[in-house]
Amino acid sequence: MVDNSSIRHIHKDIIGRALFYSSIYRRFLNENGFVLAYHSISEEDSNLTCTPSDFRHQCKFLAKYFDVVDIRELLDLIETNSSLDGKAAITFDDGYKDNSDLAADILVNHNLPATFFVATKFIESDHQTWWDKRDGIASQWMTWDDVRALSNAGFTIGGHTQNHVDLGAVNADVAKTEINGCRDDLRRELELNCDVFAFPYGAQNNICDTNLDIVKRAGFASCFSCHGGIVRPGDSVFELARFPISSWHLSEYHLGAQLLRDLIAR
Ligand SMILES: [Zn+2]
Repeated sequence: MVDNSSIRHIHKDIIGRALFYSSIYRRFLNENGFVLAYHSISEEDSNLTCTPSDFRHQCKFLAKYFDVVDIRELLDLIETNSSLDGKAAITFDDGYKDNSDLAADILVNHNLPATFFVATKFIESDHQTWWDKRDGIASQWMTWDDVRALSNAGFTIGGHTQNHVDLGAVNADVAKTEINGCRDDLRRELELNCDVFAFPYGAQNNICDTNLDIVKRAGFASCFSCHGGIVRPGDSVFELARFPISSWHLSEYHLGAQLLRDLIAR
């Protein structure tokens, strides 16, 4: 039996195909861009995973219909109040092993830049996250060599705290340790100034003003959430949206229809 939500998804897939095949989608861009947030690229069954096959299709779709740029180029355009006109950025959170083992090759094959926000204490650890435990998945993390290889291949590395704490719930002392420690871990291991940051969980209530100030004082030059997704010229670079990728997208055209819906809503 097909439920109402499945029917809505199928409708969006069909509408997405019509809008992109006909190029009508370009009328909805209106100087806006968007940022996508991925987690794990794997066959595991979870809301936070995207299968390698879906990821390949989405990369092909993004390369065909949008201008995927490095996060720094996107930030420059936002800060200088320049038109974004369909610019997109691809990001990954947490530091999953499949990011370097699988996703990087697919990105390179499509000539797409991307940013990897890592929880620095997850790297080279056997830490099991509560959400992977819930979904019956064994969390597997990159090594620092993996992260360095991504950086050496031209990908951008950013911070995501040390232990993936909720910056809307922890006090300022814990937040300072987590944020400054993350920045120091990245500097020590990569010998680079990694100045982009995405706060864990990424909803509006997962960061408070005090802890956002700590992000700024730690030397991070931007901060991304994980809700919304549309970015506009002149947006505050410390309150930038990202569109979370979920396994429930039927196809890349369904994803495209969702993005266009958000573009129209903003
Ligand atoms: Zn995360």
